[in-house]
Amino acid sequence: MMDSRPLIFDRSPEELTQILQEWGEPPYRVKQLWWGLYRNLWNKADQFTVFPKALRQKLEEQFAFESLQAVRESWSDNGQTTKLLFHTLQGKPLETVLMRTLDRNTLCISSQSGCGMGCVFCATGQMGFMANLTSGQMIEQVLYFVRILKEENRTLSNIVVMGMGEPFHNFENVLAAIDRLNDPNGFNFGERRFTISTVGIVPFIRKFAHLKRQINLAVSLHAATDELRSELVPINRKYPLKTLLEACHEYVNTTRRRLSFEWVMIRDVNDSLEQASQLVKLLKGLLCHVNLIPLNPTDQYSGKAPPKHRIQAFKALLEQHQIPCTVRVPRGVSIKAGCGQLAALHQGQTS
Ligand code: SF4
Repeated sequence: MMDSRPLIFDRSPEELTQILQEWGEPPYRVKQLWWGLYRNLWNKADQFTVFPKALRQKLEEQFAFESLQAVRESWSDNGQTTKLLFHTLQGKPLETVLMRTLDRNTLCISSQSGCGMGCVFCATGQMGFMANLTSGQMIEQVLYFVRILKEENRTLSNIVVMGMGEPFHNFENVLAAIDRLNDPNGFNFGERRFTISTVGIVPFIRKFAHLKRQINLAVSLHAATDELRSELVPINRKYPLKTLLEACHEYVNTTRRRLSFEWVMIRDVNDSLEQASQLVKLLKGLLCHVNLIPLNPTDQYSGKAPPKHRIQAFKALLEQHQIPCTVRVPRGVSIKAGCGQLAALHQGQTS
């Protein structure tokens, strides 16, 4: 039978305060509960030995401490990259990827199961949309991997909402998850260590800009002409480049924060110098950085990553025009670590 208890990680501190108050518990119990969940990383009611037995039992009866089932784990890059396939209680799949380097450990979480955006090169896009994840399910992905890192004597450096899904289509839950993980009385993960990656949902870029948060924003561009971008990223038909770039300028002008652009490089599709010079025109005067990501191949898409010299020529042209640019080392290729965007996470550079 399916677990009908609410997930405890879906609850804000205010909600838990109210619940514990209704149970007749003193206010300090909320702090202990929050500390246990987010500092001690406990995920079972019986780990709360600071609580009387009756309270532990009540917690166990009233709340689920887990809602995701780890289904399959895969590794690549000599064990430095771990991808986990989870299923929700309803059997919906989602993936989380941890990338370790010498100095950083970056976690890529999913905000949805599947994705409705249909980017042609993306394994997740090929699945279609299945479900929005709750804030607690996003938090659960984080805490699951933080427990693993703890065992390895490592800590988490960054969280990127770049896995399955378009985060702006589940924006409230994404922000709630970030807020809860950001709470200084709990997990205390600074806003600047989060990145939200969007395929370019213009109204939300504007909305996000005016929230003036410290959270980083990445926009998946992949093409510098509407004709090509609409082929690769169908949402471009709704929000074409002109509208998208206007929103990007609004974001930078409002927040004074640098924007990242992701560009999955596909051989003979978007790796030409012509595309590069169109891109230069588009990004002129914008405080930004471009990440070039050699395509992570998927079974359903025939595209390939370009040869190194073409990537370098593309990069050089951007740099000639003072557009900062990084070529990302493909990570997780052998385990098909999610979608094209997911490949943008690794911190390494080829040059
Ligand atoms: S690239 Fe991202 S936005 Fe596009 S289909 Fe894949 S998951 Fe969705």
